[in-house]
Amino acid sequence: MVENRSAGEIMRFAIGAMLFEGNTFSPVIATREDFASKYLAYDDAVIDTLKGTGTELGGAIDEAASGGDDLTPLLATHGGAGGRVSGSFTAELVTALLDRLRALLPVDGIYLALHGAFISQDSLDVDGDLLAEVRRLFPDTPIVVSCDLHAHVTDRMLANCDALTGYKHYPHDDTYETGRRSLAMLREIADGRLAPVLVRCRIPLITAAQHQRTRGAGPMVEVRAQAERLTMGPIRDIAYFCVQPWIDAPALGFTTVATAHAESTGAIAAARSVCDAMWQRRSRFLVQTLAPADGIAQGLRSSGYVVLADASDCVGGGASGDSAIALAALLAHAPAAPAAIHIADDVTARQAHAAGAGARLRVALGNRRDPAYGPPLIVDAKILRLAPDSFVYGGGLMRGVRADMGASAVLRVGAVDVLVTSNACYEYADEAFRAGGIDPRDHKFVVVKNPMNYQQAYADAGAQLILDTPGPTTPNLAALPWRCIERPLCPVDAQTKLTFNHWTRERQWTESPS
Ligand SMILES: [Zn+2]
Repeated sequence: MVENRSAGEIMRFAIGAMLFEGNTFSPVIATREDFASKYLAYDDAVIDTLKGTGTELGGAIDEAASGGDDLTPLLATHGGAGGRVSGSFTAELVTALLDRLRALLPVDGIYLALHGAFISQDSLDVDGDLLAEVRRLFPDTPIVVSCDLHAHVTDRMLANCDALTGYKHYPHDDTYETGRRSLAMLREIADGRLAPVLVRCRIPLITAAQHQRTRGAGPMVEVRAQAERLTMGPIRDIAYFCVQPWIDAPALGFTTVATAHAESTGAIAAARSVCDAMWQRRSRFLVQTLAPADGIAQGLRSSGYVVLADASDCVGGGASGDSAIALAALLAHAPAAPAAIHIADDVTARQAHAAGAGARLRVALGNRRDPAYGPPLIVDAKILRLAPDSFVYGGGLMRGVRADMGASAVLRVGAVDVLVTSNACYEYADEAFRAGGIDPRDHKFVVVKNPMNYQQAYADAGAQLILDTPGPTTPNLAALPWRCIERPLCPVDAQTKLTFNHWTRERQWTESPS
């Protein structure tokens, strides 16, 4: 057993990051390349890669430096989002992390940054599997975990760590602070100042992401404020997880996790209170969408440039980013309107590179990785220019991280500038467009493929319209072919009643509100 250290003594912590956001409605299997195109680093290269970035480990590295702690990096990677991760690559990552931990024994604590929705071809709970193995190796060593606000936090995860927190903000611009907070909490546990009691509460509710913003105004701002108000005294942290709403897995639902010092009664009440605040606001999370033709017509009547959100093809939520549906709608309903769209399509990107700038060619565009929503769009295109193969994120959970777009080009199709990249890219702001030499604001329409980040990235737009398009990240959650979730679940089932499912390390129970 590791003895509690006294404050001021140098402590050695192991840190690692293994993040991926899965989507069971996406057929895309994520591989090593998908992880390497964001970051994939081992041992000391973790520090070189992530120090100075806005990632969780970027924050943990700075926190350790300010506290005089000794850090041993294990591995760090973020695979972005997709369907499931290949079983073999998942096993390789888990083995690499566990082998490094085994070689380290003993350490004073372990901090792991996980997404909380890592699913593989073999498991719907890779995070829980990993933590169970880490706990088996280190039964008495403090383990602190941080997760994305969209984590599907399972009891297996909670049972195998000492404290679990999460991003408090969406858009996710507090990953760095989450890493600092997690390492500080680990230090407090290791030196005996925090005896963490972990409780969670879950309600039968999932929500689309469009109204989950945590700054400004909106229902999630109020839920966050409630959690902040209740974080006092022995209740050291309240994390709230809106949940990745496109994972068809048991026990899916809005979840809060409270970490308290040496008490559980107040923590259970606080976790329940935040869940209740969310439930009371559930109707405000429903999303109004427009048929593409209607959205485009409304956009043409609006002044300024207009955002068309094709959120059903959100790379950051697990879709392939290769949908050409919005492009087809623009060509049909606004053929003269300048527009910008990003489509991931490695075949067309290679063709463009072979043909060179200025060439004209007929291409079959998009809808390749996920053919469920139609065939590729056959169009005549002019290659405006070849684009660089990478860019650096300017903010959010990837701030400072280089994204690998692969071979890329800008095509002119009708009046539309199409950024075609070999790799799909998580969309924070307009970094990918700008890397391709496209200023979205110079166009009447800019198609975005995310449910939230565009709301601040294009806050100056004349209108922001959400299109009713098909895809694995649709905001219309009731329309998805659910099989594994526990029913009833709001809003999939209209007649869902509120229940509070509680968990503490000792027991799990369900209550209906009185
Ligand atoms: Zn998230």
